[in-house]
Amino acid sequence: MPTGHAPIRAGRLGRGRFSPTISRVPSPPAAQLVAALRGVRALLLDIDGVLVLRGRQIPGAAGALAAVERAGVPYRLATNTSAISRTTLAAHLARAGLDIPIERIVSAASATAAHVARRHPGGRIFLISTTDARAEFAGLDLMTGEEADQPEARAAAVVIGDASDELTFATLDRAFRLLRAGAGFVAMHKNRWWLTKRGVTLDSGGLVVGLEYATERRATVVGKPTKAFFLEAVRELAAETGPPGLHTADVAMIGDDLWHDVLGAQRAGLRGVFVRSGKHGDEDLARAAARARGGGRPDAVAADLGEVATALRR
Ligand SMILES: [Mg+2]
Repeated sequence: MPTGHAPIRAGRLGRGRFSPTISRVPSPPAAQLVAALRGVRALLLDIDGVLVLRGRQIPGAAGALAAVERAGVPYRLATNTSAISRTTLAAHLARAGLDIPIERIVSAASATAAHVARRHPGGRIFLISTTDARAEFAGLDLMTGEEADQPEARAAAVVIGDASDELTFATLDRAFRLLRAGAGFVAMHKNRWWLTKRGVTLDSGGLVVGLEYATERRATVVGKPTKAFFLEAVRELAAETGPPGLHTADVAMIGDDLWHDVLGAQRAGLRGVFVRSGKHGDEDLARAAARARGGGRPDAVAADLGEVATALRR
């Protein structure tokens, strides 16, 4: 019995001669994966490393998503993206062959907008973001730079995400002064860097830390791996699953980032499933397992989303 290869199956006898065909039957999901997903009522899926890699669809991702839908399991894409709106992100995904309604995406930007609306209802908000990501904050009372420059300017909160080339010293300085005057301090995430066409690219985490240092305050972080992010996503899913109430333990996070996706979700009470289709591998699994503080093990490991989708039906 050959192992590690697609089994060769006898084809139909046609025109009097034997024609073998190669069947691409996937291997059955591992027992630990089936067990970890038993009774799961909803999924959170990371995007990079689960659905796409460097802007291209991971082979089989669209089919796996369709299988998750057929299994009747609602899902949300859960991403730390803060530089673009969900509308733009959905357009990128469509170009990679994945049609995702924006309502099915929870980004660090959209989760932060929901968080700020709840914490600072009606308050004036000073937002550091790209123009595109600003769309996520459309319902809030956003201050202009000129307003923030007034000597007596006060804000309910300063909110910072990746503003990329739109970031200026003047913007950071306005944020600094408003924070000194008592504004709430909210960061979409604290990512150190990310991959762009330029290669490794500075993300907003270092700027958040810079403002923390200058103001001697700590920001409230809303994106992954914080509990706030996962609870926001579960809250959205609960509206879709209906009664009985959705508990965090009813939801599994599927991600390629062991720390931000898997262990973060587990700390928030969700199940964490690690997929090997992205940036982390065995070395990271070993490192996380060995770390006494802040480490841990995923509830299950899968090759990719396809294996997760197959395991859901068992
Ligand atoms: Mg990822």
